[in-house]
Amino acid sequence: MRTVLVTGGSRGIGAACVRAFARDGWVCAFCARHPGPEQEAVVRDTGALFVPCDVGDPAQVEALRDTLLSRFRHLDALVLNAGISLSGLCQDMSEADFDLLYRVHLKGPFLCAKAFLPAMISRKSGSIVTVSSMWGQVGGSCESAYSAFKAGLIGWTKALAKELGPSGIRVNCLSPGFIDTDMNACFGPEVLEQMRQDTPLGRLGRPEDCADAALFLCSEAASFITGQLLSVNGGLVT
Ligand code: NAP
Repeated sequence: MRTVLVTGGSRGIGAACVRAFARDGWVCAFCARHPGPEQEAVVRDTGALFVPCDVGDPAQVEALRDTLLSRFRHLDALVLNAGISLSGLCQDMSEADFDLLYRVHLKGPFLCAKAFLPAMISRKSGSIVTVSSMWGQVGGSCESAYSAFKAGLIGWTKALAKELGPSGIRVNCLSPGFIDTDMNACFGPEVLEQMRQDTPLGRLGRPEDCADAALFLCSEAASFITGQLLSVNGGLVT
């Protein structure tokens, strides 16, 4: 049995990942901070185990690890997807918001990896996929903190791939472009149309586009791929 944990799996890209892995026969677990109708739909559709967890809280991440390993016994793949978006001019961003972005985008992946790596290393196998952003590659105006932490996640992924390769664990990074999820619900139709026109493939990204790429990176077909950045952005950033 192949097992996967998706952080932030209740909506958007994370929920699409749970659905894609489940369709491929994986036994899935996911976390998010809040239960609700979308989370319940993912459980109903996939049979996945839902564990409420804030990835920035060490005690909650350790409790998640204990629940999951007692249920699944081992973890084959970890998709570190949980994220939030807080945008605005640099000079207007509060320290609290800056810290919050750091907490979910960098500290969260660190805490999750720290919690699950001993179990993966002891089996000498595993795959980790981090979810960065095109803004981590090229920087986004009014997204300076988000861009910084997503860029940090790319560096962290590459370093971890080198550290964990000898232990048989692959670590890769997904870099979504503009994906049609709740995270972008703040944008009106004109902005969405502009994004579509700016995208060489002529459409917005779908959560499933990212889920298929994450599934590939965790599959046997990617067994010689580690430390890589896979952009899923329709050609918006090359
Ligand atoms: P989304 O639809 O807003 O979903 C975010 C998910 O993360 C939800 O399940 C949310 O559940 C969970 N989450 C947020 N903070 C969390 C925390 N502290 N602990 C645990 N779970 C948490 O976002 P999305 O668009 O699917 O984005 C997924 C990832 O892709 C994020 O890392 C995002 O930065 C990245 N990304 C998105 C886009 C895009 O265009 N959508 C582009 C590039 C990168 P709760 O709120 O209940 O915790």
